[in-house]
Amino acid sequence: MNDQKRETMEFQTELKQLMDIIVNSLYTDREIFLREVVSNASDALEKLRYIQITQKDIADPDLALEIKIDGNEDENTLTISDSGIGMTREELVENLGTIAHSGSKAFLKHLSEGNQKDVNLIGQFGVGFYSVFMVAEKVSLYTRSYQLSAQPCLWESSGGSEFSISETENLPRGTKIVLHLKEDAKEFAKGETL
Ligand code: ADP
Repeated sequence: MNDQKRETMEFQTELKQLMDIIVNSLYTDREIFLREVVSNASDALEKLRYIQITQKDIADPDLALEIKIDGNEDENTLTISDSGIGMTREELVENLGTIAHSGSKAFLKHLSEGNQKDVNLIGQFGVGFYSVFMVAEKVSLYTRSYQLSAQPCLWESSGGSEFSISETENLPRGTKIVLHLKEDAKEFAKGETL
């Protein structure tokens, strides 16, 4: 366990409220989380492809652009990884926790107006990532930016009011999200469910 420069931070207020709803409600179509993370992974590959055209000094230039989805029934995890642009520590803080996209407020309002069933619209409000907490009791996200000077980082949260970021050992470029599945979401570790 590498706890180097581990920093614990609070989610921004609206994100905390959103997290509370996502973690504590029962949903019928929670498999939408997969669509959200795969769509983020695909965006990350698309951005990398663009950067490859304009820049030559990038991390792991020969790494194939791909998305992998692996379920592990023994460990009760589902891992989604991509070899896209990855995130620096600063980007992690901004993108996953401290800055509420304008959509999060609108989404909270929409849900509170009796539209709980519309949680599957989460992606349209720009907060799709947080849907992973419908199925995961803990999320470990490893990421390494394409930028050569960036330190690989681990972002972790159990979906409460806080998340942590620490430096981690060297990683291939991109992002790997390990979902530690909830007891009632075990089916997502199985190949046939995916
Ligand atoms: P959206 O994708 O609509 O912006 P999300 O909540 O799904 O909203 O994601 C927030 C941000 O986190 C993204 O805009 C992106 O910058 C970053 N992000 C999420 N997943 C990845 C990933 N796999 N690789 C790189 N960046 C990511």
